[in-house]
Amino acid sequence: MVGAGPLGAATARHLAEAGHSVVIIGPAEPADHRDHHGTWAGHYDQGRIAHVLEVPLITALLTRRAMSRFAALEEATGVRFAHPVDSVTVLPGPDVPIPAGWFDFDVLRGNARDLGVPVDELSAAELAARYPRVHYEPGHVGLVQDSACIVDPRALTTAELTAAQHAGAQLVRATVVERIDEPGAVTLIDDAGTRHRADQVVLATGAATGMTGLLDRRPELHVFGATAVLARVPAGAAVDMPTSMYMKMRGGERLFGGIVMSPRPYADGHDYVKLSGAGLLNHPLTTAADIGGFVRASGDESEIAEAAAVLTDLLPGIGFTEFSTIPGIVCATPTGMPYIDRVDARTVVAIEGERGAMSGDEIGRLAAQLATGPWRDTVPAEVFHIRWA
Ligand SMILES: Cc1cc2nc3c(=O)[nH]c(=O)nc-3n(C[C@H](O)[C@H](O)[C@H](O)COP(=O)(O)OP(=O)(O)OC[C@H]3O[C@@H](n4cnc5c(N)ncnc54)[C@H](O)[C@@H]3O)c2cc1C
Repeated sequence: MVGAGPLGAATARHLAEAGHSVVIIGPAEPADHRDHHGTWAGHYDQGRIAHVLEVPLITALLTRRAMSRFAALEEATGVRFAHPVDSVTVLPGPDVPIPAGWFDFDVLRGNARDLGVPVDELSAAELAARYPRVHYEPGHVGLVQDSACIVDPRALTTAELTAAQHAGAQLVRATVVERIDEPGAVTLIDDAGTRHRADQVVLATGAATGMTGLLDRRPELHVFGATAVLARVPAGAAVDMPTSMYMKMRGGERLFGGIVMSPRPYADGHDYVKLSGAGLLNHPLTTAADIGGFVRASGDESEIAEAAAVLTDLLPGIGFTEFSTIPGIVCATPTGMPYIDRVDARTVVAIEGERGAMSGDEIGRLAAQLATGPWRDTVPAEVFHIRWA
């Protein structure tokens, strides 16, 4: 198992719990990103939304399956990672064309219905009445899943790794730098020089999978630097808000399109509201050096101004004054689906660069199954086939 993020940790857990011998090789999170040189991850943060208000339906389905196991994983490991929240998708009224496919009200509602997950449709007046302290753009409507949660992706990963280790997996905190194919096995060499011999390898190395040199071809992936803006909740302030996927439009112009996450505690002891998504397409990254530069720069600090403006409108009276940024990487596949595929006789690849916290446990289960036998799932294998650049 290469990569100890949400997908790699989940794959390792499902493999180990099925009785397989597993070594997970992946570095721990670096202490400070500003002088970091090395691999980076999508999960170095405190909050990721988990809900079925997603497109396509497959993503919502994978998430529903994953979420159905969250409580048992928390119980088995003693690691709490899922925090209940209302997830509300907020959009301009029905007649306004929306410049983003993932904000299609009818599709989101249809997906939830197909999966049997109750959601509430709210008119602008009902939205205002349900969340009286939150001032969405006038005329905007909402779709609410009140059984959603904020997943702490670091804690989720810890829980998955803990469960994997309980089931006998070995965790090696290192980076794989070379792969040697030998008769009957693969040898992986890590940056400490240790050699690991394996019958099967699962690569769950995240958005940068095409840049690690561990595959002989590059998967087709669009990789972006994603900046999360953190707004510190002032001492004594009570911020009572749901997590919002918010498409804010005025006069046909898009003012914001992304997530505004309910406050979560961070390591410095303060609570922060997080915003991300606005400038996502502004930072395509193609090399490991690009990623390193984006990370060391803490993402794009110019996104603070837009986030501050959105928050001032949304939560007037709170008076946010302290903002900071954290860097992340995301990737999109051309199919819109995660890649879960066998790429040669000894290698399975698992990649989900945008929704892997909510769905990672199920992607890991499918990857584990594929690494140890034929595909058997109600979703056809072709849905998750990799495309090469
Ligand atoms: C700002 C932002 C907001 C997001 N919001 C959401 C959200 O609301 N909900 C949601 O579900 N998802 C969200 N995501 C996406 C989610 O975080 C990712 O899908 C998830 O982290 C993917 O998990 P992963 O294990 O595939 O990859 P990663 O988390 O990137 O982990 C991959 C790991 O592989 C390691 N690695 C790489 N190369 C090697 C190597 N050669 N040897 C060993 N290890 C290696 C890396 O160090 C890393 O630890 C968001 C991401 C960002 C950046």
